[in-house]
Amino acid sequence: MTASPDSTAPVPPAGIEPWLRELLRCPKCHAELRDTADDAGAPQLACTSSTCGLVYRVDDGIPVLLVDEAVAGPAQQA
Ligand SMILES: [Zn+2]
Repeated sequence: MTASPDSTAPVPPAGIEPWLRELLRCPKCHAELRDTADDAGAPQLACTSSTCGLVYRVDDGIPVLLVDEAVAGPAQQA
């Protein structure tokens, strides 16, 4: 799963520390989150659960993992 630094971006799109990113889970259903972005290109974290699919915004590299602040995303494919 390792990639050479010059073939992939060393920093995730959301700018979150990789070790922290690995620990993040959807606060609602505890599924893993994946990096995404909104229409304006702002980083977001989307729940990977097909039955949940909430999308969390990221403020200055700090993910806002609050169900009340999340928005329902489109159905996410695997
Ligand atoms: Zn979820």
